[in-house]
Amino acid sequence: MVREILKKIAYRSLWRVSKKILFFFMPFLLIFLLTFGIVLSIFGAGPSDNRFAEVKKEIAGYVNSIDYDAVSKYGQENGYKLDWGIVFALEMYANGWRSQIDMDRVKRMAELLKPEFEYTDYTEKRVRYTISGEEIVEYIPVKILTQVHTYKGIYSFEYKEITEKGADYEYRYLEPVGVDFLEDYSKLDAVIYQELKGLVAGDNIKNVELSGGKMLWPAPSGRNITSPFGWRLHPVLGVYSFHTGIDIGVPQGSPVIAVLDGVVRYAGELGGYGRTVILDHGNGITTLYAHNSELKVKKNDVVRAGSLIAYSGSTGRSTGPHLHFEVRVNGRPVDPLGNFSVGRVQINAADNIDRKMIVETAEAFMKGQENLEFLIKSGE
Ligand SMILES: [Zn+2]
Repeated sequence: MVREILKKIAYRSLWRVSKKILFFFMPFLLIFLLTFGIVLSIFGAGPSDNRFAEVKKEIAGYVNSIDYDAVSKYGQENGYKLDWGIVFALEMYANGWRSQIDMDRVKRMAELLKPEFEYTDYTEKRVRYTISGEEIVEYIPVKILTQVHTYKGIYSFEYKEITEKGADYEYRYLEPVGVDFLEDYSKLDAVIYQELKGLVAGDNIKNVELSGGKMLWPAPSGRNITSPFGWRLHPVLGVYSFHTGIDIGVPQGSPVIAVLDGVVRYAGELGGYGRTVILDHGNGITTLYAHNSELKVKKNDVVRAGSLIAYSGSTGRSTGPHLHFEVRVNGRPVDPLGNFSVGRVQINAADNIDRKMIVETAEAFMKGQENLEFLIKSGE
């Protein structure tokens, strides 16, 4: 009996002591659990990194498996493969940074973003002289890469025509001498508009209704074409290159007008083009006006056919005042003397900020510098 009572007292005091200990340590325990949880959620417990690594692997694998026929003589195509980073970045934005990827969308975007190659046919000539002085002439047809239209812009290749002469032979061919780059995000903008509409800063997508018609002549004060569209020997560089537009002889300071209704995609200095305006007319049609002395429009302005956009000049790589005028269909330069007309169209241009954000994310992925946990948090 006494033992029973003693036991009870002992248990009770033990409970009292342990209760004290428990209550004393409770806050510490809570703080510990909380900290552990926070640390886990910040640095990730591993599984989330792994699932993104898998998504990345799958997308990169698909994009890298897209093969292009390198049919050009110098095989430059291989240097312009689509980056998996841009497709991965777009898919992550589109699916809200979740690990479920939409492979159909990935394929659709890759198809739209992959580089397009433009070629021209060239015939190399080889002459061999026999001992009797007779010529043996051989003609070799080759494909020469003139342009690559990537999601970032257009690369134009320049070549020099070389004639090698030896005692018993002569060889005429084109040798690559340089590449020109023109920034043009129209491919990327199309994907952002189609696949990310409403996901990026929504109302930044421009939607302008334009009325179509036939193109006007861009230089009211000149009708003389001083250099046509197509292959030519470059007047300044002395290299054989593809002339992506027509040169119209005009006096310095004469008006340059918009050939159709459009939205200003670019207005400013543009390498060899000098002071340049690029107008977007929808339906994949853009026009470019180069070597101007003064620009009268700014980016995102809506212009109507016939309105003044610039005054002519000789800025950039130019020998004298003239207007270099280009027409591009889905980024590809076409002969401006063709008969172009457009109907009622809408312009879907992604905002610079959205495009920059996506391009920079993609570049970080390609360099392996992504902070996925941070991006996932900021994306939600
Ligand atoms: Zn030109």
